[in-house]
Amino acid sequence: PVHRSTEVQEARLRLPILAEEQQVMETINENPIVIVAGETGSGKTTQLPQFLYEAGYAQHKMIGVTEPRRVAAIAMSKRVAHEMNLPESEVSYLIRFEGNVTPATRIKFMTDGVLLKEIETDFLLSKYSVIILDEAHERSVYTDILVGLLSRIVPLRHKRGQPLKLIIMSATLRVTDFTENTRLFKIPPPLLKVEARQFPVTIHFQKRTPDDYVAEAYRKTLKIHNQLPEGGILIFVTGQQEVNQLVRKLRRTFPYQPVAKQVTENAEALEETKDGADAEITETVEDPKELEFDMKRTIRNIRKSKKKFLAQIALPKINLDDYKLPGDDTEADMHEQQDLEELEEGLEDEDENEEELELDSGESSGQRQPLWVLPLYSLLSSDKQNRIFQPVPEGCRLCVVSTNVAETSLTIPHIKYVVDCGRQKTRLYDKLTGVSAFVVTYTSKASADQRAGRAGRISAGHCYRLYSSAVYNDCFEDFAQPDIQRKPVEDLMLQMRCMGIDRVVHFPFPSPPDQVQLQAAERRLTVLGALEAQATPSSSSEKTLDLPPAVTRLGQVISRFPVAPRFGKMLALSHQQNLLPYTVCLVAALSVQEVLIETGVQRDEDVAPGANRYYRKRQSWAASGNYQLLGDPMVLLRAVGAAEYAGSQGRLPEFCAANGLRQKAVSEVRKLRVQLTNEINLNVSDVELGVDPELKPPTDGQARFLRQILLAGMGDRVARKVPLADIADKEERRRLKYAYHCADMEEPAFLHASSVLRQKSPDWVVYQEAYELQNGDSTKMFIRGITAIE
Ligand code: ADP
Ligand code: MG
Repeated sequence: PVHRSTEVQEARLRLPILAEEQQVMETINENPIVIVAGETGSGKTTQLPQFLYEAGYAQHKMIGVTEPRRVAAIAMSKRVAHEMNLPESEVSYLIRFEGNVTPATRIKFMTDGVLLKEIETDFLLSKYSVIILDEAHERSVYTDILVGLLSRIVPLRHKRGQPLKLIIMSATLRVTDFTENTRLFKIPPPLLKVEARQFPVTIHFQKRTPDDYVAEAYRKTLKIHNQLPEGGILIFVTGQQEVNQLVRKLRRTFPYQPVAKQVTENAEALEETKDGADAEITETVEDPKELEFDMKRTIRNIRKSKKKFLAQIALPKINLDDYKLPGDDTEADMHEQQDLEELEEGLEDEDENEEELELDSGESSGQRQPLWVLPLYSLLSSDKQNRIFQPVPEGCRLCVVSTNVAETSLTIPHIKYVVDCGRQKTRLYDKLTGVSAFVVTYTSKASADQRAGRAGRISAGHCYRLYSSAVYNDCFEDFAQPDIQRKPVEDLMLQMRCMGIDRVVHFPFPSPPDQVQLQAAERRLTVLGALEAQATPSSSSEKTLDLPPAVTRLGQVISRFPVAPRFGKMLALSHQQNLLPYTVCLVAALSVQEVLIETGVQRDEDVAPGANRYYRKRQSWAASGNYQLLGDPMVLLRAVGAAEYAGSQGRLPEFCAANGLRQKAVSEVRKLRVQLTNEINLNVSDVELGVDPELKPPTDGQARFLRQILLAGMGDRVARKVPLADIADKEERRRLKYAYHCADMEEPAFLHASSVLRQKSPDWVVYQEAYELQNGDSTKMFIRGITAIE
């Protein structure tokens, strides 16, 4: 029996899902798999585990709940423990770097990545009686994979007479990928809709869409607070840094001074002030530096604990033909990686913030009522996150500045006004290189509508969109594409194989990636050495012959790096001879389009070398020392290195103009270098890389190693010069002067005129990119980024 406080009881009774308890439980009892869809805030996450608990599902085994976001796993376990009056040892959470799970745990909240990891060691999930996959509408890669795995685990458990229930929960009714995919579920699972009261929300678009949406959000919030009746304000921006920036500005404008007598009279409040952690909230921070310092320290601490955790899985030094396997695998879930990004961001752009802060401190407000401004993002400590649920001090208006965590994962009470910047941070993949970067993009219409919906829970509300209706109509997709379909297939293939999923091609994905591409990915991974070369048929049994090639030790290491496997391999091999900074720079440079301007050499023309006015300079870059070996990539490396140096001397624009570099590309390369460096530092324990603005040209020895590494990474992009000696016809010989036969291609491809190796035209080369160009009615293939194989 559960003993709830009257306060909790009353709050529960207001939740729509409570009225449906009986129907929900009947459906779950009668069906192995059930889908529950209900508006955010209807009580799915906090109540369903309790229904199951009270129905006896936690008696012999555990109730497991997965969340794509760590914030949600922690916050929800705490809330449910509180509501049920149970200790955290029984209602617990487990995320990648921390948790409070004990042998007594009955209800376990965890990230989707954690449960995937558990499946590797206990395929039948024998410790659980029921698994709830929460926030399935988010379509995170790991939740999608879990849906596929559980579609097979549930019938297996049934066969063993130990049934496992699966509940898929979604904040939207868009669940046909789960209900109508018969490869996934032969019998479509029943869909339960939780009807929620939702008050009308008036949508206000802007006439124009400003670029500086943080400044715009600030202005809009001032207006709301100064002119509109009471009711909480929820502001959506894209990342931790923007949240902090806006919180600081708003706190400056509307300072909250705790009333002295409140503090002395209320022992609890006193306790909180002493806590120190709170100082940041209650005090008006006069010196922004102090606050920055506090943030920096917090970040450093998190980083330290991650480091400690990662130290147990040290990545060993890698020899060109000796790939040692790290002790253990880490999961790197998408949202967690975003956390890492946020974490680094906090460190990077501090100075910028301060400047802004100074600029705005002069603005005044007519409003006397204080604003109770709270930040919300993934990496915020859970104590601070919890503030959003605590009562607002007398006479204050609540204002929460949040990332999209508040879209569906956490329901903030008392919101009447939503300010939506219409953007979010997304991990975008370069389809050519697989290198990913976080960029700010427009959200989907579905997300925008979810955000607006947050304003209509207590009464009629308002949503202020900081973009025009034209932008909404033309630039917003209807729905976000599932993450699994946006991820490069090679990455996905390797990652799933590292998880122990052997037959990725036959895997029951809710929304499958392209099958042909999956097969091609397997082949490419084999060529790279990430998968074992297929064993030659021998006397072994049919069954083993049937198995797909195993993941190699190199493959395990490659999967750690946040880049396409070919680059992952290059980075893995660079873990010696101080080569990592060069490879990072090279990978970053290769990932940005058109760093080098090709004047006079149209991409669709095949003109003679030298037509490019920068050609000579580039020749000299490539030829210096012994580096002709590295060919075009060396040009890039030298160009970026020299540009960085010029930049550190304040001469970047002149340098770019004089040497034919695209300045914007150079700064993109730099950003990518920083990002890659940070992610490597966090994921690979015995490395402490920096981004050296004065990256010296590699020594001869290093250049030779780099070449070897480059060839190793590009092993599937080999081309051989068409032997001209065999061609009798003179015209034909001329036509094929720079022609190469590439693996996997029927027609020959031509060495691009911008290549510094064009005059030499080596017999064997590897290339970075092959592309086709329209030339009148016909098309012609070109290859670029050439390195000679000798
Ligand atoms: P759903 O999962 O359907 O979106 P939830 O179960 O997360 O809904 O939320 C139900 C209600 O519980 C919401 O009104 C939310 O504000 C409230 N709630 C959640 N966590 C807390 C908390 N820590 N303190 C107070 N209220 C909370
Ligand atoms: Mg929920």
